Amino acid sequence: MRHVDNPLLQRYVLPPFSEIQAEHFSPALDQIIVESRAQVAEIIKTQAPYPTWDDLVLAMDEIHGRLKSFSYVLECLASTWSGDAWEQISNDCRERLNDFRHSLRQNPELFQLYQRLADSQIAMHFSPARKRTLAKILRRLRQNSLTPDLQAALEDLKLRIRGAETLFMEHLEEANKAWSQTFDDEARLRGLPPYFKQQMAEHAREKGRTGWLLRLTDESFRIVTRYADDRVLREQIYTAYSIRASDQGPNAGIFDNGEVLQQLLRDRHQTALLLGYSNYAQLAIEPEQAQSPEQVMSFLMEKLGRQQKLFKQEAEQLKTFAAQEGFSELWPWDYQYLAEKLRRQTTGVSEQTASAWFELNSTFSQMLLIAHDLFGIDFTERQDLSAWHAQVRLFEVRERGETLGYIYFDPFENGKLNGYPHTSSLRNRRITAEGRLRYPVATLHTWLPRGSGSKPVLLDHQHLRILFHEFGHCLHQVLSRADYRDISGISELSRDAAEFAGNLLERWCLSRQCLLRIAKHHQTGAPLPESIADQLLMYLSTQTSWANAWSLRDALFDMELHRSHGDGRTAQQVFNQVSAQVGHLPASANERWPNGLDYMVTGYGAGLYAYIWSQDLAERVFERFERNGLFDRTTGKALRQTIYEAGDSRPLSESISAFLQATDHRAGTRI
Ligand SMILES: [Zn+2]
Repeated sequence: MRHVDNPLLQRYVLPPFSEIQAEHFSPALDQIIVESRAQVAEIIKTQAPYPTWDDLVLAMDEIHGRLKSFSYVLECLASTWSGDAWEQISNDCRERLNDFRHSLRQNPELFQLYQRLADSQIAMHFSPARKRTLAKILRRLRQNSLTPDLQAALEDLKLRIRGAETLFMEHLEEANKAWSQTFDDEARLRGLPPYFKQQMAEHAREKGRTGWLLRLTDESFRIVTRYADDRVLREQIYTAYSIRASDQGPNAGIFDNGEVLQQLLRDRHQTALLLGYSNYAQLAIEPEQAQSPEQVMSFLMEKLGRQQKLFKQEAEQLKTFAAQEGFSELWPWDYQYLAEKLRRQTTGVSEQTASAWFELNSTFSQMLLIAHDLFGIDFTERQDLSAWHAQVRLFEVRERGETLGYIYFDPFENGKLNGYPHTSSLRNRRITAEGRLRYPVATLHTWLPRGSGSKPVLLDHQHLRILFHEFGHCLHQVLSRADYRDISGISELSRDAAEFAGNLLERWCLSRQCLLRIAKHHQTGAPLPESIADQLLMYLSTQTSWANAWSLRDALFDMELHRSHGDGRTAQQVFNQVSAQVGHLPASANERWPNGLDYMVTGYGAGLYAYIWSQDLAERVFERFERNGLFDRTTGKALRQTIYEAGDSRPLSESISAFLQATDHRAGTRI
């Protein structure tokens, strides 16, 4: 195939998805690798004596940027395409991409060039942003400073870790697939939201059946344990979900993640030792704000200490309520259900009734208007888009006629069982050596349940939080003004800095003023009555300790596990001890939560605490909005200028201090 015929080889601002076919991938990757290799060889040859910023760092950025775009397009299409031939092509491309990226990381000559540039006289006068960029690159390439033997050992460990992480997710997918329930009697589904039952009916139809089919997913676990009146059904899904990929249940030992996790922990620990750390937790938090795993543990334990009284009160409240409802015994599959019932009885409202005011498209538009008010930016929907799926929408982010970047919005789950809401990026903002601006592009995947036919998609509050959270990440990506790819994109941020932006925007949909502003009844167009907004807020703060206890438990477990590896305890034993420490209501003995905790293998190992850590930071920043006005342009501009625009050109703590100073009225230094 000729170069000009392959859309993957064209220069593009946004990928021409509709022109891309499966057979374009392999030859395009061949070509990209050949060209990149030649460019790297040229860089090494010409930069050897005196490496420069433009001809080393920016030239390599160009290569990395191209690889990233290719990989992004591949993953977008892989989320919708299927079939054996495509699986083979996509897996083969992933492997070759990984190998090539690996060869770049393992190139001692490149490492020396970066090192020489960092040590040079000229680098002493670099801006802080350039110095930080170079330091990040050198940290990424640091294994080149090891002896060849150690480098080989490290590579071996990396490969094994990658293999174990992949296997962990495959086991989980298999375990999810292996469980389903069909129902012919609708009475068993009493209490479930109508949209959820419609989905179940569609899943049954897809399998050529009548009735309803319940699959095992995060969402179905959440919905069934919360709403199903049928106690047996709740027990069935709770048990299936809590023992996934383990040594328990009918599939015991078949997709067991127990040994995979132990192997992963051993290899992560070895990696940390090789690089001079005492444990993997130390290695993992190095780029974060926390100074040590012990500091993280103290932070989490302090949080726990402050909440335990509430945990106890709410647990007692639930037990009393259970007795009133005629439950002689309380089991884990009753907790969420009874908590939900108690919330409804106490407040007179439910998330499901309130969702009538939060239709997806209308809510999304309102969210964009809030961003417009806060940051002075506009979102123009592009009708000429070419995307990987008909459901995808594209927005050009503009300010006074100038393009700042692009956001794709991919709202719905795509039928794969292991998906989750997230934000991905096609490109980080950067300025090339020739002075050309490369626009940042983000994709917001909310993984919402698909609507049925022409029925509107109504968001419950959990969905609303997901939407705002991921949009926060997108804003962080497209409003960055940092010029270099290593400091301008969200995927290059430390975990705490990345989750700060998501957590911050979530705060808006927990506020009365914002809920009243964005809500519009999907049938009548009527605003949300203030009384319902108040009821909803009360609902959202009743019986919340269970969710808080779970997130603290997982964060403590993850940190303790990676910090204490080698002390003879299994992951399950660490988990049981942490659970007992957190307290709250007891779990069943056969639960195997560590085996299904996918955060452990999706980049959050020893980093799960960052969600809780960054919540505190987000609250401090949000307080300024509560004081100055939730939609106050001046405070919004300060947020944009001090935090979003800085990207990772300085530590988040410095950006937050700058924001607090800029919005401190008393100091009279508003910007
Ligand atoms: Zn997030």
